[in-house]
Amino acid sequence: MQLTQLTIDAARSAVQERKTTALALAEAHYARIQDEDEQIGAFLTLCKERALEQADRIDRMAAEGKPLPPLGGVPVGIKDVMSTRGVRTTAGSKILGHYIPPYDCTAVARMEAAGAMVLGKTNCDEFAMGSSNENSAFRPVHNPRDLSRVPGGSSGGSAAAVAADMAVVALGSDTGGSIRQPASFCGVVGLMPTYGRVSRYGLIAFASSLDHIGPLTKTVKDAAIVLRTIAGRDPMDATSADLPVPDYVAEIVKPVRGLRLGVAKEYFGEGLDGEVRHAVESAIDRLKSLGCEILQVSLPHTPYAIPAYYLIATAEASSNLARYDGVKFGLRVEGDSLDDMYEKTRAAGFGAEVRRRVLIGTYALSAGYYDAYYLKAQRVRTLIARDFAAAFERVDCILTPTAPSAAFAIGEKSDNPIAMYLNDVFTVPANLAGLPAISFPAGLSGDGLPLGLQITGRAFDEETVLRVAAVLEGAASFRHLPSFIAGA
Ligand code: GLN
Repeated sequence: MQLTQLTIDAARSAVQERKTTALALAEAHYARIQDEDEQIGAFLTLCKERALEQADRIDRMAAEGKPLPPLGGVPVGIKDVMSTRGVRTTAGSKILGHYIPPYDCTAVARMEAAGAMVLGKTNCDEFAMGSSNENSAFRPVHNPRDLSRVPGGSSGGSAAAVAADMAVVALGSDTGGSIRQPASFCGVVGLMPTYGRVSRYGLIAFASSLDHIGPLTKTVKDAAIVLRTIAGRDPMDATSADLPVPDYVAEIVKPVRGLRLGVAKEYFGEGLDGEVRHAVESAIDRLKSLGCEILQVSLPHTPYAIPAYYLIATAEASSNLARYDGVKFGLRVEGDSLDDMYEKTRAAGFGAEVRRRVLIGTYALSAGYYDAYYLKAQRVRTLIARDFAAAFERVDCILTPTAPSAAFAIGEKSDNPIAMYLNDVFTVPANLAGLPAISFPAGLSGDGLPLGLQITGRAFDEETVLRVAAVLEGAASFRHLPSFIAGA
């Protein structure tokens, strides 16, 4: 048994049946991290003691013949924007470079309560701002499929950890595509649940009305298992929905026959790579052959999604990041006066992209410009949500590319923020509308790089997006991309 290439169920049952131990699984993944992560850079902090304590708990349960919980003995990575009690949590920023939270993020606590072993914290763009992981204050992440490429961002460390078999599963966060786009670039599955489906308690806020926590996994079924684990009302997050959590794992095996799938014409304009278009077309053929009805839908306000997103997200970020003032959290650089201390602390602690966004957001919210920028962007947001609502009267979900191309080269867009922002063109609309969306591997580019497809669904209908992704995943038989390690 290759211990680092297991799905959740395979890992859990191997431990349950005593074919291996949780300890051996943890050790195998740490060995893999030891061997590979210097070149990839997926992890910022490891918490071996914590993982091994959990391993011991799980192994004792297995030894006593007790049924293991759903993630019993499963090694996981956690994006470093989720608070972990006693374990350094940086948000990829120097300003939190030494921050040790006193409590756990709800999603992390639920993963551990379900038996998962937290191996460590994964690298990300600073405060989750970015599409390439080059904005991490610590180091960039390299794409395990091709080390000269970016892994996508901002959950690049989580995607790379899963793609390189350094974790079975990782949690990420998605404000404008940060789970789905790295999943697409690294050839793994990434699910952004509906806004409110998963508690944000303990997530370091970027843009509170757009932030979602979700899984990055090797298979669609694993994404369903993790969602079932972390979803549901949390009294600590007033925006978490008080709705029953379906059994996603049971839902995904239901047939797709009779489902109506929408294809949005606005998503197939210029700038879209021919290979990506081809992957979408093959998926459409496959879905037709399985008895789905394919309908053309229109989402006319799509071209305004990027500008609206980059005003709303920066406005919220400028407010959320005000708390890093040298007093309440993390870094403090002394100055001659209070103002001087604030300035020195924030200048030393924040990287260029974070500063750019705080400036844009502060400007968009300023008294003179609020109506022209922030308010206008909020109106556009409503129009985008209405586009989806109209489309979902006719179809059950919408099929689009995840990103305009396969993973781009490290450095290719880092000097050009606008080019970087445009990479989010297909992912930000779902955040603005608060809808669930999944990216899963659906093809290979001519260079052998993974290409992702995205399925967006109605609010709180994760089961349909998972179900459609599951049948396509089987068809693409793309699950096990060749490992990036020579000879492996
Ligand atoms: N790439 C987008 C941004 O830079 C999305 C980031 C995210 O989803 N956290 O804002």
